[in-house]
Order: sequence, then C-alpha cells, then structure tokens
Amino acid sequence: MVLQIDLGAVAANWKALAAKAPGARTGAVVKADAYGLDAALVAPVLYECGARDFFVALASEGQAIRPHLPGDARIFVLSGHMAGAPLGGLIPVLNSAEQFFRDRAMRPGQPFGIQLDTGMNRLGLEPAEWSGIRGEAMAANQGQGPALVMSHLACADEDSPENARQLATFHEMTQGVTAPRSLSATGGILLGAEYHFDLTRPGIGLYGGAPFAEAAPVVRLSLPVIQTRIVRPGEFVGYGASWRAGRVTRVATVAAGYADGLHRALARGGAMLWAGEVACPVIGRVSMDLITCDVTDLPDVPDALDILNDRQGVDALAGAAGTIGYEVLTSLGARYQRSYI
Ligand SMILES: *Cc1c(COP(=O)(O)O)cnc(C)c1O
Repeated sequence: MVLQIDLGAVAANWKALAAKAPGARTGAVVKADAYGLDAALVAPVLYECGARDFFVALASEGQAIRPHLPGDARIFVLSGHMAGAPLGGLIPVLNSAEQFFRDRAMRPGQPFGIQLDTGMNRLGLEPAEWSGIRGEAMAANQGQGPALVMSHLACADEDSPENARQLATFHEMTQGVTAPRSLSATGGILLGAEYHFDLTRPGIGLYGGAPFAEAAPVVRLSLPVIQTRIVRPGEFVGYGASWRAGRVTRVATVAAGYADGLHRALARGGAMLWAGEVACPVIGRVSMDLITCDVTDLPDVPDALDILNDRQGVDALAGAAGTIGYEVLTSLGARYQRSYI
C-alpha cells in the first residue's frame, strides 16, 4: 500500500494559483494535516515557494507545524481563540465578540485576525456584532488593528448568485477597514480579481482537487495484489454475495479497504483499479481491508493495482463514492506507506 505524494506538484499548484491572483499575497491552507498529506512536510515546501501565511483549523495543528516554519511565517488559527487553546506563536482568527474579548484580555498586544460572517452562517462575526467591537478592534495593538479581516464563501465552486451577494456584504462590512482583507479559498481565486483582495487562502487546489481543474495530480495510491483466483459463472465474490460471475472471471484481491479511507460506496459508483492504463472494475463489496476487482482482461496481473492515478484522481474516486475530493484526501488512512517525491 504505497501512497505517493508529489510535493513538486503541490508546489506547482501553489505557483499556478498565485499566478491567478497576481495582485494578492497567496497563503496556504494546511488544516487537517494538509488535507491528509502531512503538514510538516507540505508547509515548508510552500514556504520555499513564497507562502508566508498559513491557515490551520486548530491551535494544536498550528503548534505541530510551527517548528517546521521560519519565524516570518504567520500561522492563522481558523477556530479563533478557544478557551485553553495553546496560541503561542500563532494568530487566532477571532470569530465572535466573546472570542475577541477573551483574546484581548489574555493576549494584549499580540496579533489577531477577525472573521466576518457574510452569509454562510458558520463562523464569524455578524454585522451587528462587528459594529459593536469594530472600533476597539481597529484601535487594538497601538492602532495597528487586526493582522487580517477575512470571510469565507459558501458557493465559490459554483456559479451561484450567493457569491456576488457575499462579496457585496464583505465590501459593506469592511468599508474603511485598513487591515489586509481576505475572502477567497481555491474557488474564489477562480471567480476573478474582484474576489482576491489582499490575501488568498487556497487549500484543495494545492492538493490537486476540484474546482481547480488545471491542478497537477498530487497523490497516487497503489495497492498490492494479495492473490488472484478464477471464479466460474454463477459463483459470487465478497460479502452479501452481491456480485455474481456472468463469465469465467479472474478476480484479484488487493490489500486496502474502507478502514483505509476507500469508502464502501465506491464499489457501487463504478470505481476502477488500474493496471497502468487498463481499468479493472471493482466487483463485490469493499471490505475493511480488502477490495476485489475483475482482472480477466489483463494479459498479466501486476504486483499492485492503482486506485488513485492520473486517470482516476481524487475527484473521480469521490464521485464514485458519492462524496467530494476533500473527503477522499482527508480519509486516506494511516496504514499506507507514504512516499514523497
Ligand atoms: C478550508 C478553508 C479554506 C480552504 O478552502 P479550499 O476550498 O480547500 O481551497 C479557506 N478558508 C477557510 C475559512 C477554510 O475553512
């Protein structure tokens, strides 16, 4: 089970997204261990490319990468200032008046960001709440104010009227704000220059996922074949006897399953295992540690079959499983041998 992660492709994707927003700084979202790919390795590569603004979900994630980045790299914590969070060396993005007052009481003089809610109703200060603390926030730290004022788009990967609505709300809520502003993740970068502001926050596009269609593929996952067998017409394969042979079939069993993040649903969605360029349909049910596929049409069965490659990337596999590339990446399990190129 070899999960190959192409750090050169991550770097190329960062540069390509940076080139799409030439007027803005380009940050890097490395939450959830850089979408499952190892933030301690990914973040320094992006720093080398020029990224100086990193985003994590939790303070603990920020502490994990802090030693791997030089001092001029800023690490923003999207959950803000939670009670007891270890925020030393990190910048909380404060999401409510409560977080703001907690942070100012406990970290006076230390940098902070502000997240505004512009319609998603998930995280961030609502307009009235923001009006209430705005003066104090802008005057904080000897008038320097927040290091960043940001919001997040709910529908940036679609052509939705909500994008323009959130953009207008962000303009209204930040009118006269002199602090650097940020609105866009990967999808927002692709929406165009009016969404870029001072800093962008790409995540999934760095790791080769939609909506960044031009992304270089980053992951390749190769699963060793444990054994093959011949199944006669009428015999079945796997739990529930859900698949029956209609012809004499050579079946290969590979060593990975839903415990490794290869969702049980992907069998019904038409996922393939790949012998180079040749597709072998997954048959029967995905079990915890094993997947079966039809290799009848292969002249030779290789030692390993790919489930993620250039032909079937994270979004194709996600489509088969009824989910999104983000979930495929962040589900990839701990049992893989990870190899970095
Ligand atoms: C996850 C996240 C991002 C990155 O989004 P992608 O769609 O992966 O580019 C940016 N900003 C916030 C607030 C996020 O939660």
